[in-house]
Amino acid sequence: MSGRNGGCPLPEAWSAYVDRETAPGESLALRAHLESCPVCRLEVRAIQAGRKALRAAPVPAMPDDLRRTLEGMAARRYPAPPAASAAPWGLPAWVRFLLSPAVLAPAAASALLAALWLGRREPPRLELAAEPVELPMELVVSAHNRYALTLPLAPADELFSEPSAQLAGGSMEAGDVH
Ligand SMILES: [Zn+2]
Repeated sequence: MSGRNGGCPLPEAWSAYVDRETAPGESLALRAHLESCPVCRLEVRAIQAGRKALRAAPVPAMPDDLRRTLEGMAARRYPAPPAASAAPWGLPAWVRFLLSPAVLAPAAASALLAALWLGRREPPRLELAAEPVELPMELVVSAHNRYALTLPLAPADELFSEPSAQLAGGSMEAGDVH
């Protein structure tokens, strides 16, 4: 076994290991280290317990001032486009000109379509700009949190090689304490 300063992986490595974000080869090396190092086994179990506690905790409500700040930032970043610039069928005049059959040579079609496609990667504000939209910032943040927290936890037997890994049932070494 190696000591804390003598070859043990850094805590960040174990965090990535628990989140299954390590490369296959790295995972094998970390798992092999776990078999011989009780210090790191304890660390991995602590990280797992922390993950579980985080998932069990309720998502706190967003403070009103923070919500207003974020909404203001979003409004400045994505202002509603002026109504005059919107063409009747949603495309600027120069795009309609380029799309007209007289201009659009078949050879250039694919390149232009590719450019238009790339240009579409922006928030869907054209559809939303017609009426005032209440930005559900709290909903967005909580949806993100739910996504981040519902990624599957790695099963204990995937992290620990030894069959006596005690995290399987969610208990945290209760038997070892006393
Ligand atoms: Zn170690």
